Amino acid sequence: MPRKTVARIDTRALRHNYRLACRLASPARAMAVIKADGYGHGIREVARALASDAPKFAVACLEEALAIREAGVDHPVVLLQGMHSAGDVATCVCEGFEVVVHSGYQLDWLDQADERPTVWVKVNTGMNRLGFAPSVLADVMARLDTIGAGETVAGFVTHFACADDISRDDTDQQTRVFSEAVVDWPKLEKSASNSAAHFLPAQPSFDWTRPGIMLYGASPTLGKTGPELGLEAVMTLEAPLTAVRTLKPGESVGYGYSWTAIQETRMGIVAIGYGDGYPRHAGTDTPAWVGGNRIRLIGRVSMDMLAVDLTGAPEACPGDLVELWGRNVSVDEVAQHAGTIGYELLTGITARVPRLYE
Ligand code: PLP
Repeated sequence: MPRKTVARIDTRALRHNYRLACRLASPARAMAVIKADGYGHGIREVARALASDAPKFAVACLEEALAIREAGVDHPVVLLQGMHSAGDVATCVCEGFEVVVHSGYQLDWLDQADERPTVWVKVNTGMNRLGFAPSVLADVMARLDTIGAGETVAGFVTHFACADDISRDDTDQQTRVFSEAVVDWPKLEKSASNSAAHFLPAQPSFDWTRPGIMLYGASPTLGKTGPELGLEAVMTLEAPLTAVRTLKPGESVGYGYSWTAIQETRMGIVAIGYGDGYPRHAGTDTPAWVGGNRIRLIGRVSMDMLAVDLTGAPEACPGDLVELWGRNVSVDEVAQHAGTIGYELLTGITARVPRLYE
């Protein structure tokens, strides 16, 4: 019998979240960002589940775009980091992938190629990861014209650094820089918003948004959980209770004896740990859920198991399934206890955990 530790993937919730992104983005359209194996949910299945709603997908790299084709989905796919070698150009043309061009060496590769894919020019509006400075944009566009790639330019993209924090005005500033930088090309398309920007009081309005994390039901916004933003959890991570015991006052549990009972405590061992991608830094008091009751972790997370206090779930017994995150405990809450973000938890679930699609 396989271990019952699984990640259940609710494709209906995925579609619900994508449709919410579309409503918030309107009149812009939303390209679904499904990089990093669909944020840990399985890129092939996510692509298939969204294929009838989403007109376009976005991924980080060529391998991910090819996985979408392997899934039988032939939608346009944007490679957000573009080409990593000159050889990628021909594959992108052949497969109909659209590439983000952010550096001069990528223009050289386009120059050397016989045919060119559809190109998005990345503009650095302040984040300083990738992109051309607004001051050189005219030169970049002239170079694309010179090498005969001008016709293949779909538009411009930029990326927001601080949209998760609604108290900051950096997104307005980046939006202004972007709008001014691309003003000379009114017919080309523009794309800026990540998930967080969909929830800003005044969402920047361009042609395409690029929602990622919100599609999976996790929050892009500081201080809010996904459900508080109207999102539905897509992944429910669950594992069985494999042992139940009662600790006497003064007895401890797990490595380092880091948690000690001060009164008689019924506790359980759950078959999941950091070897499955559950965060080791989620210690005592991180919430979980069993049999309709909210419970809490106690002690340190081990590689293959963790301990929970069953005081709040007196009926729970070995074999019962514990939800580590999902519909009842948001991944955002767990992330907060672990000192990280939902993105890292969802993308970190390891291959040992089977994904079950519902
Ligand atoms: N656009 C770009 C260029 C990205 O790198 C990402 C993700 O990191 C996204 C869009 C989607 O961001 P989010 O998952 O915060 O919606």
